[in-house]
Amino acid sequence: MSKFSLFLSIFLAGSLLVHAQSDNGVLRMDEFRSSKKRDNIIIPDVGGYHTLKCDFHMHTMFSDGLVWPTVRVQEAWQEGLDVMAITDHIEYQPHSKDVIVNHNRPWELAKDMAAENNIIFIKGTEITRATPPGHFNALFIGDASGYVEEREDNSKDKEAISKAVEQDAFIFWNHPGWKVSQIEGSYEWVDFVDELYKERSVHGIEVFNGFGFHKKALDWCVDHNLTVMGTTDVHNVIGYDYNLGEIVHRTMTLVFAKERTEESVREALEAGRTVAWASKYIAGKEEHVENLFNACVEVSPAFHSKNDRRYFEVTNNSDLYFEMNLKEGDGTAGIVLFPRSKQVITAGADQQNLTYEVGNAFIRSDKNLIVDIPLK
Ligand code: ZN
Repeated sequence: MSKFSLFLSIFLAGSLLVHAQSDNGVLRMDEFRSSKKRDNIIIPDVGGYHTLKCDFHMHTMFSDGLVWPTVRVQEAWQEGLDVMAITDHIEYQPHSKDVIVNHNRPWELAKDMAAENNIIFIKGTEITRATPPGHFNALFIGDASGYVEEREDNSKDKEAISKAVEQDAFIFWNHPGWKVSQIEGSYEWVDFVDELYKERSVHGIEVFNGFGFHKKALDWCVDHNLTVMGTTDVHNVIGYDYNLGEIVHRTMTLVFAKERTEESVREALEAGRTVAWASKYIAGKEEHVENLFNACVEVSPAFHSKNDRRYFEVTNNSDLYFEMNLKEGDGTAGIVLFPRSKQVITAGADQQNLTYEVGNAFIRSDKNLIVDIPLK
């Protein structure tokens, strides 16, 4: 190749590249997609319902977050979410000298990109009252303007929530154990929440917020039939807060929905069909945690026997993690089922089943899921 033709081909290649990058926004998004890998989080459907991966609590520059709304969509796409909500604070706007306050703007800026990437994007906001009672997320809202803007005056708490109630929002209480060490009595079933509960104006509670496990919230959800939620409440770039690896993924709510639609997500949230997932932990109402476990884990018929013991293979067909400790029966004392992995257990020749406690699956603050493994 002559020096001239080498120059020409470099020049041509360079100009093609410039041309591709200077085209419209759709092409830029296509390039983003082709250069990034979207995670495919494997969690089987449960009992005829679609298992949707959802994060209903995140922030942008439009309140105290550090990223633009469209970046939240890119992160959600890359991490395999089905459903997301941006929930910027109404009453807390620390960037207001740099970003014009407009509570509807995050939704407007990100909704097209979410639609183009097959992400169900729910309009939401965070009602940010002084603690207690603290913060509440409202999902499926209409206009986000016209809410109470003043934060510290607890006498306006009811008025602040009532705007979301008027909009028929799905409302959940955020991180109830937040500031537990600073404000005595804050981590309780406070009167204000009790009043909302009696009026059916609060519908769920965050059991996981980021890496925080609010254990009392799980008991409150079970005892009051409220929906168990798990969210990131992410403020920074997601990859900075979460070292996304095999076990550490972004915190989320698994929603068991009839269809992969916004209406079905809402129906499932109202019916309480959720399990919250953070790090290696899952938490939820017993029925849902149990169904989820059974959908993920299967046990083979005995594949070997020796010295009066039978051998079985246990398969985890999911990205969840299970830590199983024997409670009853003559069998292997404990196994860890890593995501998408197999393990071997052995049992006495006459053993019909083995009972295990799943140490990382919570159905109350002090109670783990108990499973019976039938042996064939
Ligand atoms: Zn928040």
